[in-house]
Amino acid sequence: MYHEVHTENIAARAHAPEIAKLLDRFAFHGRNGRPVAYEDFIAEIMPAFGEDLVILEPTDDGDYRWIHYGREIVRYVGGSRLGETLAAMRPQVATFTRDCAERARSERKPLYTIHRSKPITRVALWERLLLPTIAQDGRDVVVAFSRPLQFREDLLNAVLDNSPSGIVALRAIRDDDGGIDRTVIVTANARAAELAGRPGACLLDCEGREGLPFLSDPTLWRRCLHAMQHQRADTFETAFALGERTTWLRLAVAPLGDGLLMTLTDITDLTVANQTLQLRAATLALEIGRERATRRALSEEIGYREEREKELRRLAETDPLTALLNRRSFTERAHAAMATGASEDADISLIIVDLDHFKQVNDSHGHAAGDAVIRAFADMLLGLLRGERHLVARVGGEEFAILLRGAGGTEAVAKTRQIQDALASRALPVSETLELKVTASYGIATRQSEEQLAMLMERADQALYRAKNEGRNRIGIAEASTIAAVAA
Ligand code: GH3
Ligand code: MG
Ligand code: MG
Repeated sequence: MYHEVHTENIAARAHAPEIAKLLDRFAFHGRNGRPVAYEDFIAEIMPAFGEDLVILEPTDDGDYRWIHYGREIVRYVGGSRLGETLAAMRPQVATFTRDCAERARSERKPLYTIHRSKPITRVALWERLLLPTIAQDGRDVVVAFSRPLQFREDLLNAVLDNSPSGIVALRAIRDDDGGIDRTVIVTANARAAELAGRPGACLLDCEGREGLPFLSDPTLWRRCLHAMQHQRADTFETAFALGERTTWLRLAVAPLGDGLLMTLTDITDLTVANQTLQLRAATLALEIGRERATRRALSEEIGYREEREKELRRLAETDPLTALLNRRSFTERAHAAMATGASEDADISLIIVDLDHFKQVNDSHGHAAGDAVIRAFADMLLGLLRGERHLVARVGGEEFAILLRGAGGTEAVAKTRQIQDALASRALPVSETLELKVTASYGIATRQSEEQLAMLMERADQALYRAKNEGRNRIGIAEASTIAAVAA
C-alpha cells in the first residue's frame, strides 16, 4: 500500500488549508511543552473542523476505536465506522493507522500522512493529520483530520487533458426497436477536438458523426455500430481531408456502457513515411528487376558468343567434308600429344593411309561419288578408332593420318590390319544405289626416342610410298634403322 509519513514541514506538505490552522491551534494548546488537553482542544476545533475529523481512542486490548467519524468522511467512504475498532478495517490500512496513532502518541507530536485507498472507488489518495491529546481521565486520544487528497476524477481529467491521443466516449441513442439511431458525445478531450479538425471546440453533447466528421465514412461507421452492438473492441485506420491536408487516424474502439470509448491517434506522419518507403521499395524492386533482366540478357549473349566461338573453333579445326581434324590442327595436337607422351614415356605410332587409284573413282563415278567415298571411309576410321586417345585427320585429298597414343609397332600394325580388313570386307556407300569397294595403302612409323613429329611423318610417308610401289593395298612399316638414313 502506498503511504508517506512526515513529522516535519507539515504545513508546507499539506494540501488542505485546514491543516495549517489545526497545527496552529494544536501548538497553542500545547504551549510550554504541555500535553494537549483533549476536552479543551476538541471544544475549540469541533465546530469548525468536526465534519473532517475522526477521533481514535485506545481500547484495552491494544487496538483503537473510532469515537467520532466526521460527516464528510462518511460521505466519501459511503458509511460510518463510528464505534468500530481498527481491526474491522482492511489489515493493511488498520496496521498503518494503528502504527501512525502509536507514533503520534509516543512522540507527542503531530504526524502527517498520505495513503492510498483501494476499495473506495471515488478517492485515490487521502491526507491525514494525527494530533495526540490526553483526556482528563488520562486516556490518550488521537484526533485526526482526514481529507481526500486526490479523486479518481482528478486523475482521469489529468490523463484526458494531457493525452497525446484523442479520447472520446460515445453513448448510443436507441430507437424504439433498440436499434442504434445515433450517438452522443459524453466525454471528449481537447486532443480529440483537434484531431477532428475543430481545435478548441467543445464536442460534449454533439451527435457523434457531427462532432467527429471522419465517422461519416459509411464503412467506419458500420464497424463502430458493430463494436457497440456486439460489445467488441476493434481497431481501424482512416484517412480524411482536413483543408489541404489528408489526416490519417488510427481508431481503437472499446465498448463502454451502452456506447463506445474511442482512442484517436494521428498516424499521418507514420503513414506518409510508410508510403514513401513503399514507393522507394517498389522503385528499387523495379530497378533490381531491370538489372536482373539486363544481366540475364548479357549472360545469354555471352553464352551465345561462347557457343559461336566454340563452333568457329571446331570449324577451324575440322575438315568440312569429313569432320575429321584438318592437317593444321592435327599437327598442333600431335605436337602436344608427343610432348606429354615423351614425359610419360609412352609409345606413339603414326599411320598414314592413302586410298588407292582414287583418280579412277572420280573418273568413273564423278567427283561427288568420290566425295562420298572419302566421307564413308572417314566414318569407318572414326568407328574403328573411337576414344579421345587417338587423333584422326584428313591431311590431303584422299590421304589420312592417325596418331595412336600408347601404341607401339605391334599394336599399330594390328590396328592397321583392322582397317584394312574392314575395308576388304565391306563396300563403302556412295548413294542409295551405289556402293564401292576400295583399297588403301598404309605407312606405319613408331616413334623412336626424342623423335620429332616431322621426322615421324616423313618416315611414315616413305613407308607408304613403298607400299604403293609394291602394288598397293598393303602395309609399309618404317624400320627403326631408317631414322638415320632419313636424317642423313
Ligand atoms: P594412287 O594413290 O593409288 O597412287 O593413285 P591415285 O589416283 O589415288 O593418286 P593420285 O595422287 O594420282 O590422285 C589423287 C586423286 O584424288 C586426284 C584427285 O582428283 C582426287 N581427289 C583429291 N582430293 C579429292 C576430293 O576432295 N574429292 C574427290 N572427289 N577427289 C579428290
Ligand atoms: Mg591415292
Ligand atoms: Mg594421294
